[in-house]
Amino acid sequence: MNFLPNSRHTLDVENIIHPYTNLYKHKTKGPMIITKGKGVYVYDDTGKEYIEGMAGLWCTALGFGEKELIDAATEQLNILPYYHQFTHKSTDPSIQLSEKLKNIAPFKASKVFFASSGSEANDTQVKLMWYINNAKGLHKKKKILSHIKGYHGVTVAAASMTGLPANHLDFDLPIKNMGHISTPHYYRNSLDGESEEEFSSRLAKELEERILKEGPDTVAAFIAEPVMGAGGVIIPPKDYYEKMQTVLNKYDIMFIADEVICGFGRTGNMWGSQTMNINPHSLSCAKQLSSAYLPISAVMINDEISELLFDQSKKIGTFGHGYTYSAHPVCAAVALKNLELFEERAILNNINKVSPYFQKRLQRLKDHELIGEARCIGLIGALEIVSDKKSKKPFDLKQLVGFQCMEFANKHGLIIRAIGDNIAFCPPLIINESQVSDIFDKIELALNDTANWINKNKLREQI
Ligand code: PMP
Repeated sequence: MNFLPNSRHTLDVENIIHPYTNLYKHKTKGPMIITKGKGVYVYDDTGKEYIEGMAGLWCTALGFGEKELIDAATEQLNILPYYHQFTHKSTDPSIQLSEKLKNIAPFKASKVFFASSGSEANDTQVKLMWYINNAKGLHKKKKILSHIKGYHGVTVAAASMTGLPANHLDFDLPIKNMGHISTPHYYRNSLDGESEEEFSSRLAKELEERILKEGPDTVAAFIAEPVMGAGGVIIPPKDYYEKMQTVLNKYDIMFIADEVICGFGRTGNMWGSQTMNINPHSLSCAKQLSSAYLPISAVMINDEISELLFDQSKKIGTFGHGYTYSAHPVCAAVALKNLELFEERAILNNINKVSPYFQKRLQRLKDHELIGEARCIGLIGALEIVSDKKSKKPFDLKQLVGFQCMEFANKHGLIIRAIGDNIAFCPPLIINESQVSDIFDKIELALNDTANWINKNKLREQI
């Protein structure tokens, strides 16, 4: 495409490296510029309206243009626009937010550490596990296990725990002490005739074998998303985590719950750990913590971890970790207001009211010729596109079928995310039934367009 000289499209292409974008293709395709948002809708620079089926990147829980969040930020900017937490300093919003988070945590949280992103929170988790095991004198107990297709971020340690090839390839990752285990995706990975329960038991057995192979005295922690998001919205069987945690407990291996997507209602409970029966030792959260109006993340740890941190920092003379923006007061004030609004507006009730309809409309698309699996929980879901429903045979990922479906959805005024050939849905939590209906009407049109495009280009004959 030819862009006008000095247009915002030209400047974007000339100036910006876009995350998770084919940078080469971007030169000719150019950006989709979003200029404003209201409720569950966003608008591009031509004024075209889109319903936001992804809450941005799984994060704008209260939708766009929420005045109370804007006011909370403005008020705090006027009082104190910045301060930090190094060398015993603190601020009121961060103190109040830490208390709030501890009160709603899904386990007995003892302390809260603040950062700005999910990746920073998860990098912190790795460092904490290494630090406390050194404190205990367990100098070999450093390995962190995570799922293949698990997503934990892109900083060096977080990307190493992420189990997706694109995050490792040519970045010289993963670093040492990281190991990946099977994805708990029953539709794709179960054996013929295996029940969900048998599948969970098999994966728990596989975990135990892996721990024994690595050496139990070398494995510090397992990090997992209660429901796996960016790997394709994968919902493990109900009893999966209980079985996994029994094994982990046997070998004194900590469970780090990565609640960066699941936290704050996404799966129908406040925490994905509650939905999936996880009892974590430590937890990361971000995104919906502030409805993403400002960047903030938190790590919550139990008593045992915090006591060890105290001992170790006493010995060393400081806790040598923390960010310039840890507990930024404006971000903390917005997060605090966001959590107040969650309660005042009974957002959890809305999720549970709308979720059955979301589930019904998603499941209906299982009859579509392209859909192999339709999965959802709370207000997160995915449709898995296959070339043959019976054999579950996928298209060649290079054919970019999911990407094409995303383009057709955009054409119909819907934003969704293609993760390979999985179409993900994660709308703002304030959505109502008629807006959910709009999302699924539009995705059906996009799937029909995709089916026609596949037939026209004879894609099935090329795999
Ligand atoms: N963990 C999970 C579960 C995530 O989904 C993400 C982001 N999608 C991250 C960590 C990383 O968060 P960030 O992009 O804020 O670094």
